[in-house]
Amino acid sequence: MTTPRIPRQLYGIIGYPLGHSMSPLLHNWGFELLGEQAAYMAFPVAPEKLAEFICCARMLPVSGLSVTIPHKQAVMPLLDAVTPRAQAAGAVNTLFYDDGKLTGDNTDVYGFLHPLDSCGTAHAAALVLGAGGAANAVLAALTARGMCNVTVTNRNGDRARILAERFGVRCVAWEERHAVDADLVVNTTPLGMAGDRQAQTPLDPAFFSSRPAGLAYDLIYNPAQTFFLASAQAAGWRVLNGLDMFVAQGAEQFRIWRGRELPFAQARALIADALASGC
Ligand code: NAP
Repeated sequence: MTTPRIPRQLYGIIGYPLGHSMSPLLHNWGFELLGEQAAYMAFPVAPEKLAEFICCARMLPVSGLSVTIPHKQAVMPLLDAVTPRAQAAGAVNTLFYDDGKLTGDNTDVYGFLHPLDSCGTAHAAALVLGAGGAANAVLAALTARGMCNVTVTNRNGDRARILAERFGVRCVAWEERHAVDADLVVNTTPLGMAGDRQAQTPLDPAFFSSRPAGLAYDLIYNPAQTFFLASAQAAGWRVLNGLDMFVAQGAEQFRIWRGRELPFAQARALIADALASGC
């Protein structure tokens, strides 16, 4: 058997633990569909090995990387450059080479806005639950859209205060979150995720039934319907899970790396089917 003499390019995801990331499925499917000579692999990298890994990646034929928990902020000082949108979001989820410089970008902001823009409805007031990396991207997105009435709340109040100051939004104590009036509620906590936290929710169902219906947006996509979304829907709210965001942020990474568009509906169906079959 002969090895084809075609330049191949390597991409991957770094995080720790990586669990069962859907990113390899998405990108490898895209490479095959579009006839790209490239492959995407999962690289579990422990926090204490991050600097060493980035150093090695610079010497290897790695053309781009996705970055996930817990490296989204820690990787920033290890890069040659950071795009303005990653700077605004305070975190990086995509690495690529720009004129030989290892550069960090953030496609979570784009991913978060993609389904929200498709909904086409304006919201008067937003409540963001959580103050981690994803909340950073959500606040960057909402403030970039010019939304003025935004409140952030978090179990660890200091983290919420730092974010509120950074984005010029309001902050309330976690214990006070049910008193906030909002017609867009975004869950950026892992409460409700498949596994140990599936039965949990960041908001009491009475929150939804006690105010006019709006949009409940959960960044979680596994399970497709969390308790948070089910209780919002039961109270007449529209609901959105994190699947479209995941596919949109991945498609944007693909565009950065290969300059080509992934067909969104097909990519979404691929991931939805894989999740439904428990892959
Ligand atoms: P992270 O940086 O670890 O932040 C997690 C946040 O959740 C923190 O604010 C944390 O509060 C809060 N939290 C954790 N356990 C909690 C609990 N028991 N009670 C109340 N609050 C709790 O994680 P992340 O990167 O922001 O990701 C958060 C979620 O978003 C995950 O479910 C992830 O899968 C999802 N996500 C989805 C997409 C997508 O494309 N759909 C993209 C990014 C992230 P403390 O500060 O008090 O610890």
